[in-house]
Amino acid sequence: MTAVRAIRPHWYFDGSEAHKAPVLGMGADGRLAPGEGLPVEDVDGIVLPGLVNCHTHLEVAPVARPAERGFLPWLKGLQAAGGAYTGVDPEKFLAPARDRARAMHAAGTGMLGDISNTGMTYAIIREAGMQGVCFHERVGIDQPHHPVLADTVPVPHAVYSTHPDWIASTGREALARGLPWTIHLDEDPAEAEFLRGEGPWPGILRAFGRNLSGFHFPGLSPVAYLDALGALTPAARLVHCVCTGPEDLDRIANASATVCVCVRSNRWITGQLPDVVGMLQRGIVVVVGTDSLASSPDLDVLAELAALHRAFPSIPPGIVLSMGTNQAALEVGPIAIAPTHPLLLVEGPRTLDDLLDGTVWPRRWLADLDPSHPVEAHR
Ligand SMILES: [Zn+2]
Repeated sequence: MTAVRAIRPHWYFDGSEAHKAPVLGMGADGRLAPGEGLPVEDVDGIVLPGLVNCHTHLEVAPVARPAERGFLPWLKGLQAAGGAYTGVDPEKFLAPARDRARAMHAAGTGMLGDISNTGMTYAIIREAGMQGVCFHERVGIDQPHHPVLADTVPVPHAVYSTHPDWIASTGREALARGLPWTIHLDEDPAEAEFLRGEGPWPGILRAFGRNLSGFHFPGLSPVAYLDALGALTPAARLVHCVCTGPEDLDRIANASATVCVCVRSNRWITGQLPDVVGMLQRGIVVVVGTDSLASSPDLDVLAELAALHRAFPSIPPGIVLSMGTNQAALEVGPIAIAPTHPLLLVEGPRTLDDLLDGTVWPRRWLADLDPSHPVEAHR
């Protein structure tokens, strides 16, 4: 496709590198195209690939924050409010999920990894104009098998809630199919306690009627446990890793697994943050997710990146930005981001630091710009 216009933003971030004031030829589809000879329009903003939200829960409703910090009070609050699908009336959760997906795309998200309890959000992601994966989350510490629905990647919820055989088999099958899979890991100290047969989880699970008689408490850390199950591989997207220490970060790095951090959710639930600097120092690929509206004020990747930038000011803004635009995190194999993916214009910021300063900058997909009119930055 040849270009219909040429624009010159303050910066173009291509998913890994930032380019200052480049001239970008642009096809009618909003992707890059050869644009020699066209008049150049100066654009007040920054162009980047569509944002990638690697971990959210479209179906989960906002709930009031509990008075007490910690994962268990938060989970109790979510259950008491009926904020997540538990097998009854899926449409009650899918209808708002549709609205949230449309709003996410309008705000610049192009790709989404959704953790779904209904297993029915793939169509919602596509209908909203995004690419992505419906990770169908299953629980059952005493259930080694679950049926697999069409258009889903089945995933375990967490080490304390899912059977080790199910964790091992989903990890193995995802790797064999060249797909990412995901698990909540090391979000709260109670996970490691559970694997030692201690803490609140054994009692909670028994109270829920789960049979733990066949479960061998391995006495390993959550990361070492995944490794022992053969599930710590390059296909694994480990979500949170708030409690993960240096030895386990080394394990993750050696296995080339990816970590997805959700710092606003961590602040909300436990008040603690993962060692993102330690992850980067080890060469671990770090991506971001917003988690759900039950622990995050919105599903906006740029707001998530701004929070991460504030929490870890030593990390250069280009590295932070790559965590929210890494399309490979949800695809298979090496991905050339530009010019194959739709591009986004964030209007107003002059530098990458401005982009991440927490301002809710207006965004427009380049495909939505009217080719016959100059770009008007509405500040
Ligand atoms: Zn989550």
